[in-house]
Amino acid sequence: MFQRIRYRLLLSYLVVFASLLGIFAIAVRVAFTRSLNEQITDKLTAIGKGAAANVEFEKGRLKIESDFRPQNLIADRQALQWFDPQGNLITQQGQAILNLPLLPSQIIQIQTGKVPIQAVTVPIITNDNNQLVGYVRVSQSLEEFDETLEKLDWGLGGGIIITLVLSGISGILLTHQAMQPIESSFQRLKQFTADASHELRSPLMAIKINALVPLEYPDEIGPKDAEKFQAIASATNQMTRLTEDLLLLARTDKIPTHNWNTLNLASILENLIQLYQPQAEAKQINLKFQLIGNPQLMGDAVQLTRLFTNLVENALNYTPSKGIVEIKINRVGSQLYVNVQDTGVGIAPEHIDKVFERFWRADRSRSYWSGGSGLGLAIAQAIAQNHGGLISVTSQLGVGSCFTVRLPAS
Ligand code: ADP
Repeated sequence: MFQRIRYRLLLSYLVVFASLLGIFAIAVRVAFTRSLNEQITDKLTAIGKGAAANVEFEKGRLKIESDFRPQNLIADRQALQWFDPQGNLITQQGQAILNLPLLPSQIIQIQTGKVPIQAVTVPIITNDNNQLVGYVRVSQSLEEFDETLEKLDWGLGGGIIITLVLSGISGILLTHQAMQPIESSFQRLKQFTADASHELRSPLMAIKINALVPLEYPDEIGPKDAEKFQAIASATNQMTRLTEDLLLLARTDKIPTHNWNTLNLASILENLIQLYQPQAEAKQINLKFQLIGNPQLMGDAVQLTRLFTNLVENALNYTPSKGIVEIKINRVGSQLYVNVQDTGVGIAPEHIDKVFERFWRADRSRSYWSGGSGLGLAIAQAIAQNHGGLISVTSQLGVGSCFTVRLPAS
């Protein structure tokens, strides 16, 4: 149980941490990409302005100044293009040339493809009369930009994985440390229940014996006193059963597995059916048994008998006379399935999750039997879990219930 809580805690901790790291990584990537983009745009604009300053406007035509060396201005993977005011290309220089037509309204143009290219368009305006005489378009291949981003992605991804591994390890240690006090106080509580139940055994036995003694001499006590002693004896019986149940619940997970034997579930159930046949007949209940395959498993015979006793007793107790109680064993792959099905009072849908809780009992007015303590199914579930199995239930009010025990076969 604690192992499961520990795993769940660790998992939720890692999920929250991974989501936070993911959000952080996305934020860093977005901010980094934006700032890198701005840097490129600023750089290209500066180059464009430089190139625009080096043109002359002569006789209605744009001319690059003779002493201007574009290669001094642009680097590898960059290019310069000059356009007239109508957007016709006049000349171009460099690599990473953009093939898209000039769009003066769009300052930044991006050409996708194998090698993406970004371009910035700068208008050329004459100094003397502020007239637009053309455009310079500076472009740069984004290869380097993509490489930088790829490096960033690897860095962030690697960082996240390493952080998650490290926080997973520290999470294991932390959850272990956090659960330890809870675990030990739970164990102490269990030990207390076990000790208290154990200590109650002898005084209860003494009360029972003392209550039964006067009943052996009915002539010496009146019928009223006999009734009282009978009531004391039966209440003591009920309390003894309750303390035994509590003791068993407190100890179920302590049963050593090296005491387990290879068992045949069919013979356990056949014995049980023989034992409960008279009770079923007295109530005119048809108690049936169906076996498919060889139901062998490793387990503790006493505990498993207890598990199925509880289910069969419940089925008989909560089924009115002339009903049917059917026990079926089935093997599916490596699992054994035992169904205990009845045509009894059924369990309301809102109560179905509660039946395995300790001391939980349905509304007594609907119960046919009032001798139970509400621990039977909790014990059955604990025994099934101790054997690596589980009990589930399906039920319909007024129609019947079906308890299914799944146990690993051997
Ligand atoms: P109890 O000692 O009361 O039988 P259990 O833990 O065995 O305690 O069962 C808990 C409650 O679940 C019962 O009080 C009853 O209301 C309900 N229940 C258990 N088995 C059946 C069944 N076969 N049909 C209807 N109700 C059932």
